[in-house]
Amino acid sequence: MTNGNPTQFKTENQLPILSSSSQSPLWLLTIVAISIFTSEIAVMIAFVWLPPPTVQMGVILDGVLLTMLVSPVLYLFLFRPLNVHITALHQAQDSLQQQRDHLEEEVQKRTAELIERNREIADREVHYRAVVEGATEGILTLDKQGLIVRDNTAAEKMFGYDPGMMANLPLVQMLTPDSAKRCLGSDGLLYPVSNLSLEAQNKGGKTIPILLSISTFKYENDHYFTAIIQDISERVMFEKRLARLAYYDSLTGLPNRRLFHDRLGQAMEHAHRNGKLVGILFLDLDHFKDINDTLGHLFGDRLLQETAKRLSDLLRKEDTVARLGGDEFTVILESISNTADAEDIAKKILHSLRQPFNLGEHEIYVTSSIGITLYPLDDNDIERLIMNADSAMYQAKLHGRNTYELYTSKMLSETIDRVALEKSFRKAVGASDFLLQYQPEFVLHYQPEVDRYSGEVVGAEALIRWQHPELGMLGPDQFIPLAEATGLILPLGEWVLRTACMQAVAWRAAGLPPFHVAVNVSALQLKNRNIVQQVAHILKETGMDGRYLELELTESVVIDKSEELITILREFKEMGITISIDDFGTGHSSLANLQLLPVDKVKIDISFIRNITTSKQDTAIVVGIIEMAHKLGLKVVAEGVETEEQLMCLLSHHCDIMQGYHFSRPVAAENFEALLVNRVEITPLNQSHQ
Ligand SMILES: [Mg+2]
Repeated sequence: MTNGNPTQFKTENQLPILSSSSQSPLWLLTIVAISIFTSEIAVMIAFVWLPPPTVQMGVILDGVLLTMLVSPVLYLFLFRPLNVHITALHQAQDSLQQQRDHLEEEVQKRTAELIERNREIADREVHYRAVVEGATEGILTLDKQGLIVRDNTAAEKMFGYDPGMMANLPLVQMLTPDSAKRCLGSDGLLYPVSNLSLEAQNKGGKTIPILLSISTFKYENDHYFTAIIQDISERVMFEKRLARLAYYDSLTGLPNRRLFHDRLGQAMEHAHRNGKLVGILFLDLDHFKDINDTLGHLFGDRLLQETAKRLSDLLRKEDTVARLGGDEFTVILESISNTADAEDIAKKILHSLRQPFNLGEHEIYVTSSIGITLYPLDDNDIERLIMNADSAMYQAKLHGRNTYELYTSKMLSETIDRVALEKSFRKAVGASDFLLQYQPEFVLHYQPEVDRYSGEVVGAEALIRWQHPELGMLGPDQFIPLAEATGLILPLGEWVLRTACMQAVAWRAAGLPPFHVAVNVSALQLKNRNIVQQVAHILKETGMDGRYLELELTESVVIDKSEELITILREFKEMGITISIDDFGTGHSSLANLQLLPVDKVKIDISFIRNITTSKQDTAIVVGIIEMAHKLGLKVVAEGVETEEQLMCLLSHHCDIMQGYHFSRPVAAENFEALLVNRVEITPLNQSHQ
């Protein structure tokens, strides 16, 4: 490469020239002139005075002398300067040639570089084009007004346009009006978004669920946007199917027990806000077993379907009718004002079901019995409300069937004195020294998690027990709702975390192999702004390595996907902590939600595992969750594995980790050590299970 300085080449000014110093000196000319003059005088004298032969000789001598004198003069004044100029011209010619050669060489080099660069640019463009064209996501380049400048084949296919026909169309035209609003700023222009779940519309008007990300870039002083659009129809369909399987009864299409629970919870919240009542009706068909036994199950199923239809037709849109199983149906009557409203509906149901059922060749008559309970008059706990309604229905049966009965407090013989329990709980947790390590009334038990490949214990879930002075040992289900309702979950949760970390450190110090210790974290704890500092402080204080701590979050926590939650989880991840979603499948979250969160594991709820070998529905749900979770790179833990059959089924579907009575119940810390050392109660998993 030249340095671009042309001064290295000789210029015309630098060509050699004849200098004044090279000219003949003046004295030489004078001598020559004098010599010629003298010799010519001598010749003229010779012509006058000398005879002819001598004159001739003198002329010849003069000629010779003249030649001798003029030759050097000719050389000095004519030939030498001429020669010098010729040499200078040659040198200039050489120099020009060199410059030309150098320039040619430079041009060739630059041309080669330019060709190479163009080739690289062309290669890169081909590569980028292949990436963009081969992408399964629609990729659009938009100008700052949001008009499409470029698009790829996937986008054209997704929106049903021919190649090139999307140019200059606005992106918002591809979205439903509501979705368009969500990705436009107040100025009506696009702004960067990440994985926004929206609805698009293709050319034919079909709605497509999508994830949209928009980023900006600058090119030639203009701002542009890149929009990446992922079609999530398949995932949404799968989740709908999963939700259908998980929340609806396949025989009648009515909500099942799970959805009934959710709806009842919502109805109670709504009624609480509006000062209304919720009526809960529990009903079944009288002597349904006889119908099943005499006419067969198929007929029984048709009767249940018809019953479901009549109940649905009878109720208001806002009410819910669910099938809990067999011939048991429940009804939620939302926002009623008094007991009489519930009684009126019960009477209508009794009347409707008394009308004959025409099922093919059979016309049959059935009656039903109904139990009624009211929130909040009878209770404010979902389970107890269902028990109340069930007890009332039992009373209706005792009173001759084909009738309804209202719940009274005397119906439940084993009613727990909730007020007394709350009082003693406040006393136990409310003590000022609660955060001290030793707590006489609370203890942690640990339940092992077993790896499907090695059969080794890879984790321990810490589960709290309350050693109630009068009621004996109580499990978390019996007092955690109370702890959450009273806010005492905050000191209790902190104590559990600290105690579990101390225990894990003690196990490591005792030489036990490393494994995760999992601690359940409630939604209320996560709402506490200091939760991250609290966890960091406990890790430091106890010397626990964050890599061996796992925090189990309830599924309801992750539904909101708020930035605040994502930040908290990311900070946990930075400490090396594993995040798992507990009781998965019972809430309304979707696996797609988890994709956006820094989550490592899902723990499938026990209610799905319990029936995995008997219910095709539950098997389908479990298999679906495992497959989707694996696609998202999450590990799957099955909770509540109790039998060899369940284990075999889970292994055949590649569930990663198992937990449940089949391996071990939750045990005290000292017994857990024995479990690890001796591997007692752990069923070894042989290769055939893998
Ligand atoms: Mg748990």
